[in-house]
Amino acid sequence: MGVVAERILIVEDEANIASFVRLYLTKEGFTVERAATGEEALRRVKASVPALVLLDLNLPDMDGLEVCRRLRAWSQVPILMLTARDDDVDKVVGLEVGADDYVTKPFNPRELIARVKSILRRAAGAGSPVARGVLTHGDIRVDAGRREVLVGDRAVQLAPKEFDLFWSLLEHQGIVLTRDQLLERVWGYTFAGDTRTVDVHVRQLRRKIGETCPVVTVWGVGYKVADDVPVA
Ligand code: CA
Repeated sequence: MGVVAERILIVEDEANIASFVRLYLTKEGFTVERAATGEEALRRVKASVPALVLLDLNLPDMDGLEVCRRLRAWSQVPILMLTARDDDVDKVVGLEVGADDYVTKPFNPRELIARVKSILRRAAGAGSPVARGVLTHGDIRVDAGRREVLVGDRAVQLAPKEFDLFWSLLEHQGIVLTRDQLLERVWGYTFAGDTRTVDVHVRQLRRKIGETCPVVTVWGVGYKVADDVPVA
């Protein structure tokens, strides 16, 4: 079966990081292009949309978040953000810029490849952990088909991973899911010690849904959806 190499655009001003990433992606059979600035990235995607954009947060001409926002204004191209500092993680996940996932520098190349593949699988509509249907909890209504979350009458915008995480927890109402189980279900892989990702996303879920968010922490184990449903 002939497979056309998927094209990935790396947006990174630091040449050594770009070539390091290029090396690993090429080894995995991807075709790799590079843009050194935000403007160049926008121009390249407009000229020909790649399978995925690997977007660094720190660029010389504009913030990676701004590039992400501008792309999202007209394109659903999958975007994986590269962040240099741990502090940026909250910003990337928290701001509703529409990135699909992020990796913190310095990253393990195997982890980067796993995330790239996971996003591409998902973009292809295969291996998505989310089924069709509607789940409810109290006055929260989650529609997987529409990827819509309503808290009462209020629509809540969740990033893709936040949505999948919430859905996984709601599907297992009352059952504790460990961080590793959630990583496996929602991100499609596990890496020892990479549970911060889960914690950050849970924090964002709680922030966006507000005080009616039913996700509770089970210390030392993971997370679950509270058994008690608030009375409307
Ligand atoms: Ca950079």
